[in-house]
Amino acid sequence: MSFFSKPTDPDKWKEKYLDLLDEQEQSEATYKKAEESCKEKEDLLCKTIIRLTIATTGLDPHLDPHLLGIREQLKSGINSHALKDELEKFTLSVAQIKHTPDQNQSVEIQPLFDFLLQRYTTENQQSLLKLLKNKAESAKFENSNQLFIAILEAIESDNDTSAPTIIANHIDIGIVSRQLFLFLEGIEIPSIFDQQAQTAKQLLAAPNQTTIAFESILDKSFKLLLKIKQHNQSEQQDIDKFLSHITEQLAALDISVMGASTAAQKSAENRSKLDQPVSEQMEELQLSSTNATKLEPLKGIINSRLASIAKEIEEHSQKEAIQRQKTQQQLDDLVDKIKDMESESCELKSKLKIANTQALRDTLTGLPNRNAYNERLETELARWKRYRTPLSLIIWDIDHFKNINDSYGHKAGDKVLLLIAKQLSDHSRATDFISRFGGEEFTMLLPNTDSKSALILANQLRQTIEKTGFNASGASVAITISCGITEFTPNDTDESAFERADQALYQAKQQGRNRCCVL
Ligand code: GH3
Ligand code: MG
Ligand code: MG
Repeated sequence: MSFFSKPTDPDKWKEKYLDLLDEQEQSEATYKKAEESCKEKEDLLCKTIIRLTIATTGLDPHLDPHLLGIREQLKSGINSHALKDELEKFTLSVAQIKHTPDQNQSVEIQPLFDFLLQRYTTENQQSLLKLLKNKAESAKFENSNQLFIAILEAIESDNDTSAPTIIANHIDIGIVSRQLFLFLEGIEIPSIFDQQAQTAKQLLAAPNQTTIAFESILDKSFKLLLKIKQHNQSEQQDIDKFLSHITEQLAALDISVMGASTAAQKSAENRSKLDQPVSEQMEELQLSSTNATKLEPLKGIINSRLASIAKEIEEHSQKEAIQRQKTQQQLDDLVDKIKDMESESCELKSKLKIANTQALRDTLTGLPNRNAYNERLETELARWKRYRTPLSLIIWDIDHFKNINDSYGHKAGDKVLLLIAKQLSDHSRATDFISRFGGEEFTMLLPNTDSKSALILANQLRQTIEKTGFNASGASVAITISCGITEFTPNDTDESAFERADQALYQAKQQGRNRCCVL
């Protein structure tokens, strides 16, 4: 609509039409140019690919038909579908080559070993190389790398000092050099040999070598390979040495940690303080080892980390030692205190024993005292109540003892007390319990004894004492003793029985003394 909107200006649309025609012509020219340039590029690409297929033909028999196919395709122009098919087949064959043993080997082994057998001539080298040749001919090597490694080992088996021999003309230099080239391409070359390897590869790849020049190139290449192999071996030894050094250091650290870990709770706290920095260092170590690609920097990192860890452990061990010393000192002090307490307790025990003995013994006569009597009475009463066997009590009192004291002195009185105590003890039964109850009074507990038997025994004792003379200041003094006897009855308490015996004693005194009464 807008194109025809100005009918009043009939020349305008004509002008516009011509402009458009010009524009179209121009764009057609540009397109043509671009198309030509594209065609040129396409041609160039096809030529390049064709040349490449020619250059690579002969590398592998499996690839050759595909290379030819691609070449034929490109000659008649690009047919995308057909070319795509051919390229897919080619890719498939390349992939298969990777996984199948080197089929070329048997073809190329002959010239390679011809060269080797001529060059390396000691008995050992010869026999090993012949063995390898047989093995290679029966395709027992998975790839040429394996074969070359075995060859290098065979060459290495002897120091070959012989002068290089001239290589016979029949050896195919090209094949041998291509194999060596591929081998050099395929192995990892340490950086220090980069330059030499590069030169060797250039020489090996150079076409139309003379036999003599080529002999020297091959010789150099094998020598380089030997050097690389030895370098790798020594680097491996270096790594082994380094690893065993690390292992030793770690073992030593482990021992320190183990030693440190045997301390008490304080030590456990210290240990956890140690664990944190050590495990951090270990983590960093692990990270560095994982990321490391070269041995030297890794060595540096590991050594510095190990040094830090060793320092941590050293500091920890020092703290531990101080702590151990403190703990030991505390322990020693404690042992000393315990020893002191033990000896104190022994002392106390013996004092207590003495005190107990003294508490229950009368110091003058050595007989049990009133306390001892009370204790024994309790036991005897319990036994009497349980078995109902008779139990008798005697209370003795020296007659007119006051007179003895008054006439001959208190000391003489004491001697009389001693004498009577001895007589009572010596002439009573082992089961009878005698005590000095107080002053000049003695008590006797007679188990398994009724009042009748007790009276017989008491009279015998009384008579014995009566007969015992006492000498005071040269004068013979008569001593008599009286007693009250009672047998425990079922309704008795200790007090009621005692009272009865006391009344019996009173009767004895009343009846004239030197006698025994029973109540
Ligand atoms: P009796 O025949 O009525 O028992 O007359 P006695 O003189 O024995 O009785 P008395 O109770 O009047 O006197 C007891 C004396 O025993 C009084 C006291 O001085 C004396 N005496 C008590 N204990 C001891 C002591 O341990 N040593 C000495 N030498 N005399 C003591
Ligand atoms: Mg008395
Ligand atoms: Mg008396």
